[in-house]
Amino acid sequence: MPGNFKITTFGCQMNKSDSERLKNLLSRCGMQEIEEESDADLLVYNTCSVRQTAEDRMYGIHHNLEELKRQNPNLVVAITGCMAGRDKDGKIRERLPLVDLFFPTEEMVYLPQRLSELNQKLLDPQAVGEQSEYSHYLKIKPTYQNTFQAYIAISNGCNKFCTYCVVPYSRGRQKDRPAADVIEEVREVVAHGCVEITLLGQTVNLYNPPDKTTALRQDNPFDRSKNCFGALMWELNQIDGLRRIHFTAPHPQHMDDETIAALALPNHMNYLHLPVQSGSNAVLKRMNRPYTREHYIVTIKKVREKCPDIAIGTDIIVGFCGETEEQFEETVSLYKECDFDIAYLAMYSVRSGTGASKLYKDDISRVDKKRRWNVLQKLMEETVLRKNQRYVGTTAEVLVDACEKGLCSGNSREMKRVHFRGSENMIGKLVNVKINRALEWILYGSVSSF
Ligand code: SF4
Repeated sequence: MPGNFKITTFGCQMNKSDSERLKNLLSRCGMQEIEEESDADLLVYNTCSVRQTAEDRMYGIHHNLEELKRQNPNLVVAITGCMAGRDKDGKIRERLPLVDLFFPTEEMVYLPQRLSELNQKLLDPQAVGEQSEYSHYLKIKPTYQNTFQAYIAISNGCNKFCTYCVVPYSRGRQKDRPAADVIEEVREVVAHGCVEITLLGQTVNLYNPPDKTTALRQDNPFDRSKNCFGALMWELNQIDGLRRIHFTAPHPQHMDDETIAALALPNHMNYLHLPVQSGSNAVLKRMNRPYTREHYIVTIKKVREKCPDIAIGTDIIVGFCGETEEQFEETVSLYKECDFDIAYLAMYSVRSGTGASKLYKDDISRVDKKRRWNVLQKLMEETVLRKNQRYVGTTAEVLVDACEKGLCSGNSREMKRVHFRGSENMIGKLVNVKINRALEWILYGSVSSF
């Protein structure tokens, strides 16, 4: 009997999607997924390196492995994701001696083989069979989170080299999946009841698949000569039954007119997440983000001209190397000008191996970083509370993803969390909810039609 496994996932949606592939890969080899770490024969940690705190969590877990290995001497521990991908000099591995296998995400296809080499009781070589014959890890079918929502990876890796970011080192250069594969995967999930997809890529709106001249329809009105992202969005909009398309994360440099036009296609969610990182041109330059605050603001204006009610979110890093008070104030003023609905705020932390770690000093004190973070957090909470009032009295379309003791919840097309009284049979359904109260992070309402 093959052994059982538990996967623990940290970090972004791409990692979650990768874990869905991992789960399917191991299940196809006959392994069983289980809940408790103490019952597992294989523990896989899909790690994140975006901030030092994310890596520190893995080092914390490592302390507990000793006890788990004492209880089960045959336990195999594997690490994938960003920590495995960026560990070119083996320094991370040195700090995790109880880990048996390190494999970068792209090497997932070889995992069954490596597990059976390590321990034949865990995985019989015969069960490995064709699993190692995938030409690329994105060819592995995921086990989706549920039947009505699916992450669809359209590319992996990044060529941008923002100076604070480890992704180009951990995931390598951008590789775009063939459009035919993406369209086929979406058709398949929709045929099985999926109504909402999230397209994933590190620079998702820069998409140039190898089959762009053959896989897209001749009547596709979007330009495909340079960037095919708009054309892909149009193509997916033609799939009957698919009701919601969301994507993350786009890069401001590639928010061209075609991509902006694609936001107005009928099935696109009424939400855009566009990371700005800083409102200061000097800081953006040090971050190697090749756009200006002016370009960003004009882009947001164009988006709102096309989709006047769209909700917009962003990512901001405060306290990047050399960020002066004036430069931070430029971020505050950009925030006000763009009137964001939400921002994911991070205090800069140096990541070894990145451009910033070699070029600049992490010279903003923790106290100043925290103070700047608090200023933006307060601004965000005030802004979103004010903006959410506009939904009171309107009807929101909610995709219900949870229901507990008669309290249903799900996201509106603007990615606002909505709570209302309902029943479990609403899970996975699109329900119209009349909003009667709005707080910062939750809209409350009652069912108007189902
Ligand atoms: S665009 Fe920049 S922040 Fe995003 S993954 Fe690439 S290097 Fe990292």
